[in-house]
Amino acid sequence: MQRETGASIRVGVGYDSHRFVAGRPLKLGGVVIPSDFGLAGHSDADAICHAITDAILGAAGIGDIGEMFPDTDEANRNRDTIEMLTAAVQRVEKAGMKVNQVDVAVVAESPRLGPHRAKIRERLATALGIESASVSVKGKSNEGMGWIGRKEGIACIAVATLTKTS
Ligand SMILES: [Zn+2]
Repeated sequence: MQRETGASIRVGVGYDSHRFVAGRPLKLGGVVIPSDFGLAGHSDADAICHAITDAILGAAGIGDIGEMFPDTDEANRNRDTIEMLTAAVQRVEKAGMKVNQVDVAVVAESPRLGPHRAKIRERLATALGIESASVSVKGKSNEGMGWIGRKEGIACIAVATLTKTS
């Protein structure tokens, strides 16, 4: 019996975390969110964008964000991560796939994402070349437990699906 080779839908997962620090803007999903703390990192430390970038590269099976944008490269210092995400989307498209849909869970005690969610979805949708209805962003607390509970940082988990175009 002949088995069909290569499913038409591919799934990828991405994870990212960053430590809170004073004196940097808090940028999540390409949107600056009013906060006493920003996130430490070599780039702009946008954990949502980093997790999504890894999810779509993983779904395509073409590496990860660290390979594509090494932190040893000075060009990546404070780099705008929406730009990195757009470059990853282009690479995915070159590999014969298209981003279909993205779902993100953001785990942090603060700030609350609710008031900024529509803007974040819109910004991500534009970068991904899909409609904002196909981008989901959910905020969760960690119920006061562990490093997230102590407000030391933020974690993001993203799942993306891709459709083969060729
Ligand atoms: Zn990151």
